[in-house]
Amino acid sequence: MGDLDDEQQRERGFSTRAIHDGQAPDPTTGAVVTPISLSTTFAQDGVGQHRGFEYSRSGNPTRHALEAQVASLEQARHGLAFASGLAAEDTIIRLLRPGQRILLGNDAYGGTFRLIANVWSPLGYPWSAVDLTDLDALANDWPDDVGMVWLETPTNPLLTCFDIEAIAAIAHERDAIVVVDNTFATPFLQQPLIQGADVVVHSATKYLGGHSDVVGGFVAVDDDALEERLRFHQNAAGAVPAPFDCYLVLRGVKTLAVRMDRHCENARAIVDLLVGHPAVDRVLYPQLPDHPGHKAAAKQMRDFGGMVSFTVRAGRDAAMRVAASTSVFTLAESLGAVESLIEHPGAMTHASASGSPLEVPDDLIRLSVGIEDAADLVTDLGDALDRAGR
Ligand SMILES: *Cc1c(COP(=O)(O)O)cnc(C)c1O
Repeated sequence: MGDLDDEQQRERGFSTRAIHDGQAPDPTTGAVVTPISLSTTFAQDGVGQHRGFEYSRSGNPTRHALEAQVASLEQARHGLAFASGLAAEDTIIRLLRPGQRILLGNDAYGGTFRLIANVWSPLGYPWSAVDLTDLDALANDWPDDVGMVWLETPTNPLLTCFDIEAIAAIAHERDAIVVVDNTFATPFLQQPLIQGADVVVHSATKYLGGHSDVVGGFVAVDDDALEERLRFHQNAAGAVPAPFDCYLVLRGVKTLAVRMDRHCENARAIVDLLVGHPAVDRVLYPQLPDHPGHKAAAKQMRDFGGMVSFTVRAGRDAAMRVAASTSVFTLAESLGAVESLIEHPGAMTHASASGSPLEVPDDLIRLSVGIEDAADLVTDLGDALDRAGR
């Protein structure tokens, strides 16, 4: 981490930390770019006397650099990198004991729902879906076996926003851990640990990587005891990322701030188009004053992000046609990279939640607004709506 101690590091700005924290020039060669350390094992100076690395599942220099970099951006004392967002989530759930319940916000990434409902629940970890916008109901209907509250904000795909601080206060009074999936906001727009969350999780596949070329996951925590247990599971279960993948995420994160500013700016241009378009019914974007998450988003986010969802008046078939009719927006799952993507959540990313409390409307379209020229994005989506939206 260079010569600065932790406190001094945190006084520096976001992009300075993104570009330098964890990434001091290599002491032996002076290389400015963090090397991709492929070695699986590390020579010891004497029996049991290593220089910080022994075996690459337990610790790897490239992964270590990434862990220091993103932890710094989340204002966290500890960071742990994983092979995917779901590998990171799976490791977090291992903090629970059988019988402890997970309360899941009722709008969440389909894979998170599948992991909790179809992998962990059959093993004896109960779960329930809750409306986290209704804080009175959350406090009053609190089941006494809850061990963890799991939320995304903004959510995927409805972009609902939840008040992290208020939910954490309720959960902590009842001894539950609060996990926030910060994939949509990124640490540039929102830092959940500062708002009272205990664990932050990322799909690094999305904005952190930012270029649709790497699958990865990340966990950030402040608490030493939580870190120790997560680090144990990271090594014991071994869902670690390859050094090359760590390098790609590390490189992507350096430009996170400039990319996020552009994502937000372009998203606003798209929202302006959608709000005025006759084929469009509801526009879901947290900046809109009538959006249910607007108040929470305005309180805890720097800006409103690059994800936009909307429904079309003509229903499901029209939504499917529009999603297949763009040329700059690519029809594809995933999100958070430089190129704009369009998808139909009901038939694509959220198909696994069909028939569950997390089912999404079938006339919904989700956009990941990229960093191309806004005018081209507006023209492309406008044409698709004119042609296929009615
Ligand atoms: C993609 C995603 C995940 C899962 O991450 P992977 O890297 O695909 O395993 C989790 N949460 C959210 C919000 C996501 O968008």
